[in-house]
Amino acid sequence: MVSDQDYSGFRILREGLTGNRGWRPAWRDPDPQHAYDFVIVGGGGHGLATAYYLASQFGEASVAVLEKGWIGGGNVGRNTTIIRSNYLLDGNQPFYEFSLKLWEGLEQDFNYNAMVSQRGVYNIYHSDAQRDAYRRRGNAMILHGADAELLDADQLRAECPFLNFENGRFPLLGALVQRRGGTVRHDAVAWGYARGADRRGVDIIQNCEVTGFRIQNGRCTGVETSRGFIAARKVGCAVAGSSSRVMQAAGLRLPIESHVLQAFVSEGLKPIIPGVVTYGAGHFYISQSDKGGLVFGGDIDMYNSYAQRGNLPVVEDVCEGGMTLMPMVGRARMVRMWGGIMDMSMDGSPIIDRTPIDGLYFNGGWCYGGFKATPASGWCFAHLLATDTPHETAIAYRMDRFRRGAMIDEKGSGAQPNLH
Ligand SMILES: Cc1cc2nc3c(=O)[nH]c(=O)nc-3n(C[C@H](O)[C@H](O)[C@H](O)COP(=O)(O)OP(=O)(O)OC[C@H]3O[C@@H](n4cnc5c(N)ncnc54)[C@H](O)[C@@H]3O)c2cc1C
Repeated sequence: MVSDQDYSGFRILREGLTGNRGWRPAWRDPDPQHAYDFVIVGGGGHGLATAYYLASQFGEASVAVLEKGWIGGGNVGRNTTIIRSNYLLDGNQPFYEFSLKLWEGLEQDFNYNAMVSQRGVYNIYHSDAQRDAYRRRGNAMILHGADAELLDADQLRAECPFLNFENGRFPLLGALVQRRGGTVRHDAVAWGYARGADRRGVDIIQNCEVTGFRIQNGRCTGVETSRGFIAARKVGCAVAGSSSRVMQAAGLRLPIESHVLQAFVSEGLKPIIPGVVTYGAGHFYISQSDKGGLVFGGDIDMYNSYAQRGNLPVVEDVCEGGMTLMPMVGRARMVRMWGGIMDMSMDGSPIIDRTPIDGLYFNGGWCYGGFKATPASGWCFAHLLATDTPHETAIAYRMDRFRRGAMIDEKGSGAQPNLH
């Protein structure tokens, strides 16, 4: 159904000719009602996507998203915009491939230009052993229906001639490439899901902080907020870096630590980097935005923190990684840097599950890879909330896997959240 508020080339032309008087705000600013069927805590990418799919896929009409700040103020607007499905393990690969497929049709689905750009993700390898590990990962991806390609050094040089092949600290021997990976404009994802959810009747309530949960006889009956009590049949929590603190209010202790991750953007330059390039001998990754800025980052700050800003040792570490991989980055002037709080789980993989409290559901543990998961996370969380059964691609993301010893440890670094 095409409505008057659909975005299209024709609409832009018509509005342009009639003084742009027909546009309305992308979403409403409603007061909270006393009760909803579903209350989603957290208006980040995952919370908004959950509400959008609850309405669009599961026909749920009574849904609210409660956001303590403003839409796009959390990690959904702070990340480095990379999407990919280059995972090895069975628990992860189908989920992230599902997400990548949803990205591929997202703009048409929610009628918003999110600048989905499948410009490719290059993971560089630096030793024979690392090449073998990447080959294995690529084979696992292909077996699950994703795309993967292994480049040797000459092929990599042909596509990325700006890399330091001559005298880097570690040799550049080639790369595992996922051509369908790439970048998406992060704010537009938040705005697109918010607008899409709002148009389907979801109330998006900003400046509404959840301060507690009302729990009676083991059942969650609603949330206490800075704007009063709101009753709900089911409450879904998707607050990313604030997960431990918010769930503590329900008496739950999570296998999650919070750490800061920083991002950096340079001045605008002419196009030079074809896709996303990651350094395999340290932690550094880089891409170029459509405006020309080099967007890059690296490791998390190693201590626990809820501050949305980082510290200088990681800045130095990231810059060292960049300088050894492509020394020309040292000539670019940095114009912006910021931090976001990462909900680092014990095995580096997420949790989408019910909690021991009836009616209370949890989505989190996204570490620094949750942006690419946004569509699948929203879909799977909506599936769980609506049907009380996990979606087939998220079956492994149960909370009790840590007790059962069924960790999904993609990196093999053990129960050390700062290393995932
Ligand atoms: C620097 C950086 C780079 C990154 N790069 C990538 C990348 O390239 N690719 C990738 O896949 N991932 C990346 N990530 C990770 C990704 O951004 C996150 O995993 C993902 O955005 C988290 O989900 P979200 O969007 O729902 O989080 P958020 O946007 O943080 O949403 C959570 C929301 O909950 C709200 N909230 C918290 N407490 C309450 C409360 N009590 N009541 C109501 N609301 C509350 C917050 O205000 C926030 O808006 C990066 C993150 C950072 C910081």
